[in-house]
Amino acid sequence: MSLQIYNTQTKKKAPFQSLVPNKVKMYVCGPTVYNYLHIGNFRGAIFFNLVRNWLEKSGYEVTYVYNYTDVDDKIIKKANEEGVESIEISERYIAEFEKDFNALKLTPHDHNPKVTEFMPQIISFVEDLVKKEMAYVVDGEVFYEIKNFKTYGKLSGKKLEDLEAGARVDVDERKHNPADFVLWKPAKPGEPSWDSPWGKGRPGWHIECSAMIHSILGETIDIHGGGIDLIFPHHENEIAQGEGRTGKCYCNQWMHNNFLNLNDEKMSKSLGNIITARAFMEKYNPEVLKYLMLSSHYRALFNLNEDKISQVLTGLSRIYVSMRDALTILGDTDVSEKPDAHLLKLTAEADKKIHESLNDDFNTPEVMAHMFDVVRAFNAMNLLKKKRNAVNKATSQHYYQWIKGVGGMMALFQEDPTSLLTELDDILIREKNIDIEYVERLMIERQQAREEKNFSRADEIRDELTRMGIMIMDGVEGRGWELDKR
Ligand code: AMP
Ligand code: ZN
Repeated sequence: MSLQIYNTQTKKKAPFQSLVPNKVKMYVCGPTVYNYLHIGNFRGAIFFNLVRNWLEKSGYEVTYVYNYTDVDDKIIKKANEEGVESIEISERYIAEFEKDFNALKLTPHDHNPKVTEFMPQIISFVEDLVKKEMAYVVDGEVFYEIKNFKTYGKLSGKKLEDLEAGARVDVDERKHNPADFVLWKPAKPGEPSWDSPWGKGRPGWHIECSAMIHSILGETIDIHGGGIDLIFPHHENEIAQGEGRTGKCYCNQWMHNNFLNLNDEKMSKSLGNIITARAFMEKYNPEVLKYLMLSSHYRALFNLNEDKISQVLTGLSRIYVSMRDALTILGDTDVSEKPDAHLLKLTAEADKKIHESLNDDFNTPEVMAHMFDVVRAFNAMNLLKKKRNAVNKATSQHYYQWIKGVGGMMALFQEDPTSLLTELDDILIREKNIDIEYVERLMIERQQAREEKNFSRADEIRDELTRMGIMIMDGVEGRGWELDKR
């Protein structure tokens, strides 16, 4: 099956076709930078990173643009509260975003344009729309003329009549149509502003993406992405602007990721139930955040709760334990033999299934399930307890590289297993309220008992630790014990 993607506009999955063979132009709306981003905001960044990587794996050369909205009411408000320039706020939070982004080890975007750097392009875009009578000027303010764009509403499925009726409350009398939206607005005192043919002012929100797309990628792009809240009005207005200017299709493939809820409530700043990506990654690990996001399909609402986190910790631990086992078996000798034929066959079959699942509108939960079939098979071989012969080493090496290969496109499973497992252990110990000092005391006592050849006492201690869910790890790097994660 070739790559099929669900298109928000047609509400159907269809084979993906790029405008130019083997090339993809892709744009995803990035953050408004006035604060730390919460984990919901990162659902899109993590998912579209996979989209990009999978397209590249499928042979496309991808140009991926992800913008920063650095001119906005919320930024100005925060700047006024702190008594600083708004650029100071936006630059600060761009830097903070980049720290989080780098911690996640996602593939860098090809362009991260900022509104403040695209003012001439934005202004000439608006001028063009005015010239083409797709926009009109009133008192230094420019509005989009919706009645001249006949297909308005085609992305969201909204009808102009309904929008007009809905917008009639509190309507700006200067608008020709209640649903007309702002392209350029005059600056108020204390706000950042730019010179324009309509006086000093700043752009409305929607125009920045259209202007950046036309400048960097061209008139028509292959893929446009964002969160579902952006379908209307933001993306609907982007289409009106882009197509109003060129008369050509603005974007072929619209993709929207669903929300992240926390305990059945949308995670949002206004509800006050946010967990910043920074806090989450400090408490858990970037790997946990990525695994969590990709464990559900991007178009499904993700409801985060304690159970989900605990399932993710278990799943992630199982994978990394198997990777560490593989490395332990492999040792540092060169591998000269062929891997076990059965495992080779299983990984080849899983590769095919994973390929199909990704081609089926990026079905990541299925990808995880196919991966686990192989993890289970490798664990069942129990090679750690068997001879470290050339075949077992080759099998372990193949397994390790296979997991890393599959994980790579999701930006997962690239960490050093021993150190990641130590971190996961610390998290699980904390979550399970295990008394580390008590465990350490038992470990010392066991060591003494063994030195004194008091093997029955040593066994007793081992049993007690087992009851606590702790495994003694003689001969494995680390602290000598860990939680049983198999
Ligand atoms: P905001 O800062 O709330 O404007 O959010 C910025 C972008 O992040 C939005 O346009 C959404 O697409 C996305 N977003 C916000 N909240 C969530 C959430 N709970 N789950 C997924 N995406 C979200
Ligand atoms: Zn946008």
